[in-house]
Amino acid sequence: SRSEVSYFGAGPAPLPTPVLESAASALLNYNNTGIGITELSHRSADALAILSATQSALRHLLDIPDSPGADGYQILFLQGGGSGEFSAAVYHMTSIHIGALVAAGTPDADIRAAAARMKLDYLVTGSWSLKASQEAARLVGAEHVNIVTDSRQHTPDSKFGTIAPASTWRPTPTATGDVALTYYCDNETVDGVEFPSAPSGPNLVADMSSNFLSRAVDVKAHAAIFGGAQKNIGTTGITLAIISNSILPPHATMADPKLLRKLGLPVGPVVLDWPTIAKNNSLYNTLPIFDLWIAGQVMARLLSHSPSGTTPRISVQERESVHKATLLYSTLDAHPTTYTVVPATSVRSRMNICFRVAAGDVSAEKAFLQGAEARGLLGIKGHRSVGGMRASNYNAVSVAAVEKLVAWLEEFARERG
Ligand code: PMP
Repeated sequence: SRSEVSYFGAGPAPLPTPVLESAASALLNYNNTGIGITELSHRSADALAILSATQSALRHLLDIPDSPGADGYQILFLQGGGSGEFSAAVYHMTSIHIGALVAAGTPDADIRAAAARMKLDYLVTGSWSLKASQEAARLVGAEHVNIVTDSRQHTPDSKFGTIAPASTWRPTPTATGDVALTYYCDNETVDGVEFPSAPSGPNLVADMSSNFLSRAVDVKAHAAIFGGAQKNIGTTGITLAIISNSILPPHATMADPKLLRKLGLPVGPVVLDWPTIAKNNSLYNTLPIFDLWIAGQVMARLLSHSPSGTTPRISVQERESVHKATLLYSTLDAHPTTYTVVPATSVRSRMNICFRVAAGDVSAEKAFLQGAEARGLLGIKGHRSVGGMRASNYNAVSVAAVEKLVAWLEEFARERG
């Protein structure tokens, strides 16, 4: 049964049981309307109330500026997952890069030259930022993609597992005005690497799919932040984006699609178009209100666990995340002959704890996993691309579940002597 299991899956990931219990009844009869929540119109008053409550909860949790001016941020809900936003970010940042030149009255020949020089800067620190950079190259051409850093060039085994010091990075010089986007993935889910703090760069866009709502975020340092909901926030099927007004009309100018085509630059699908979604308050097309509601319930719980004077409100959850990650890493570190943590110490993820058992010995790893399963500790097998172990420590993983895993880590290490 659910109560006998501690689940450390990397995503989809555990959700708080009380939220799922309310969801089960909302599926049949939402708020005593006699209508199930998945049957509600996305334009009904009930759906609009869910939308605005969820936006407001996220604003409070992360202290997201809500001014209507260029310094404010919109909260958008989309579909297409984190992967959809890999593409959306490229389409959008490319369009406003060219749009700014048009708005400034730049002559056509100079716009053509600037378009040819345009760069999208990617910090490649793991599998997901690598995928995002590959999508950018697919959409705009590799000549427009500048790999600022590739962590694989900085590890002895040429695998992901570190973030090289910023002094070694090769960003496109800001003074050229050619940088349409600086992209990073805040937490690399597969490789267990997390940025200790946000990097800097012009037009900064962050993928926070796997550490959203686990710590305070310097929202103002970003042009956009996005993430799929299915790890810390809710069910698969909804994507969150926090978009600066400064990159949306009327503060930014979108390039005419005809001009983009003429310049050989891509025009994205309307369902990924941030200005369209923003203008329609996330209701351009049918939004999955059930998924939105789940996200709202999870956020409401986080708010209820943090007293209203706390700033930002997410800091209570941040402390718990650090506490749970510290329990796990200190146990692994205490048994160096049995366990090796994969990533470098300074960039260890608080969310995805990646480690090897007996230096990756196949039978020892199998025995570890079998023992874990027998104790109801599930979802610990590492990503198929890297192997090893990965215990994901998302918000809904309780301290008690982490303590059970710690007990098994200790028992297994003792057994091996
Ligand atoms: N970014 C990160 C950091 C992820 O972990 C994932 C999925 N695990 C993605 C992007 C892709 O998300 P999706 O499957 O929602 O497209």
